[in-house]
Amino acid sequence: MDFVEQLKTSVDIVKVVGEYVRLRRVGATGRYLGLCPFHQEKTPSFNVNQSRQFYKCFGCGAGGDVLKFVMEVDGLTFPETLKLLSERNGIPMPQRPEYSDADSKLRGALHEIHAIAANLYRAALAGPQGGEARAYLNQRGVSTELIETFQLGFSDPQGQGLTRKLTEGRFSPEQMEASGLVRHRNEGSGYYDAFRGRLMFPIHNESGKVIAFGARAMSSQNGRADDQPKYLNSPETPIYRKTSTLYNLNRARDAMRKANRAVLVEGYMDVMGVHAAGVHEVVASCGTALTNTQVRALHRHADTVVVNFDPDEAGANAAERAIQLLLDEGLHVKVLAFGGGAGDTGQAKLDPYEYVKQFGAESYRAQLDGASSYFHWLADRARARFDMRGADGRMDAFKFLLPAVQKLPDKLERAAVASDLAGYLGVEPGMVLDQFKRAAAERRTPGPAAAGARATSVPAVQIPALERILLNALLSSETTRKQILPRLPKEMTGGFAGHEVLDALRQMEETGAFSFAALDARLSETGRTLLHDVVAADEIGDDAQSLAQAEACLQRVKASFQRRQLEDLRARVKMAGREGKQDEALHWTAELQRLEEEVKRAG
Ligand SMILES: [Zn+2]
Repeated sequence: MDFVEQLKTSVDIVKVVGEYVRLRRVGATGRYLGLCPFHQEKTPSFNVNQSRQFYKCFGCGAGGDVLKFVMEVDGLTFPETLKLLSERNGIPMPQRPEYSDADSKLRGALHEIHAIAANLYRAALAGPQGGEARAYLNQRGVSTELIETFQLGFSDPQGQGLTRKLTEGRFSPEQMEASGLVRHRNEGSGYYDAFRGRLMFPIHNESGKVIAFGARAMSSQNGRADDQPKYLNSPETPIYRKTSTLYNLNRARDAMRKANRAVLVEGYMDVMGVHAAGVHEVVASCGTALTNTQVRALHRHADTVVVNFDPDEAGANAAERAIQLLLDEGLHVKVLAFGGGAGDTGQAKLDPYEYVKQFGAESYRAQLDGASSYFHWLADRARARFDMRGADGRMDAFKFLLPAVQKLPDKLERAAVASDLAGYLGVEPGMVLDQFKRAAAERRTPGPAAAGARATSVPAVQIPALERILLNALLSSETTRKQILPRLPKEMTGGFAGHEVLDALRQMEETGAFSFAALDARLSETGRTLLHDVVAADEIGDDAQSLAQAEACLQRVKASFQRRQLEDLRARVKMAGREGKQDEALHWTAELQRLEEEVKRAG
């Protein structure tokens, strides 16, 4: 067995996919269902089939085996996928040139460089250079344990430490520069560290590898603090895409699933603070406004998101945008703001980190559990934004809230929330009804985008039930293939939608080497789509059931094939007689009688 096959037989697709997608078991047949990680959806259409070791999404058509899944979801090359899965499963990977192309080599080097940098920064924070940074952390109340957990570090103020370390290694100048961690000098030759004298926060990908850094300036570093940004981030590299990375997701995802909740904060320190409060399901977007990709990553692990941003104006605006994105993805959204809203309880305006530091873990957890729906928070925002003394201002405030209300999937809840809000804002109920009718009318005339979305959710290939059952039975049991395939010649299935799959099955049966992946590899795009649809939709029984099903299908296929043959022969007899070709007419008549007898014997 070659390495790829060996790897595939030793990992379970349900376990691997399950780390990225919350899967629900469907029936007792080894089928699982979840939200597709490859397209935006609110109801699950992403199927994983354990016995076939295959996945298929009915929404966007994505499908394949475990290797394809990891490649696509982690954005890895084929060799990188092999490496990742072999490392995780303790299977030694043979050193072969086909497992390494230029792309993977560069990315492999970048992962190494980041691991080296993370270690170097950590050592520097613990060493004599890190005195000031340690004092800063101490003053902000960051424990040694937290520093360890989040692998904080410190970058060389002289800007030489990492450059020197990497030059000693076997990295090429191109690899060093591509990492974004060192830069080429503008004048003269040589390199210098991109991050100097900063507190370093390693950023991991979902699998736990360091792929970038966030870096915070220290207050008095060479007096440069004022003309340097407080926070700097790694640039985008072949291993780091800002818009699809969530800080701390690698550590948070198990807790997110357990709690079915994610806490979304803004900064690295906030993540650490919330984590320290015993709430481990906390992530932050990495120095960018929240994106759709990040929201989908959240939804793969939890249904509820508590947005806990800074209570200042910038934080509130960011929260407003985040709420819209989260609602669009169909998530339940709550907002926690300390001293932010108009319903201020007199608390100081605190970010999550400072809140935990001042009021303690227990108080934070209580606040979090009591976080209210985004409506109250939005309504307070609206009251602060519009002039609530006049009817116009109140109506404007209501209109400002309306889009969020309309994102509620349930009609009754929509109406209840709307009348609630109207009461809170002092808007006449009649006006509310009016606005609702107008919005509903707009919804009834969907734009081209909505029509397109519906079209893609229909499976691309239509396959008759008889064929589907037959293919399923053949795919699910070796015994069935051995018994049925030899009695199902090619001419019987020429008109089948799935004839390509059957042909491939016959060929594989001859060589005696059936595997699902090999079958998949033999098919055209159309054949593959059909195969995945069949596989994802089936209910698998045991060998005996599958053989019985296949036998029944075979009889029906055979009967209709013979009916067609009989019609054909009768036509030939007639034609030969009309043309006066006696010999031919006799020949076809004999054939016809032979077949009629055969049918009679069988029937
Ligand atoms: Zn999909």
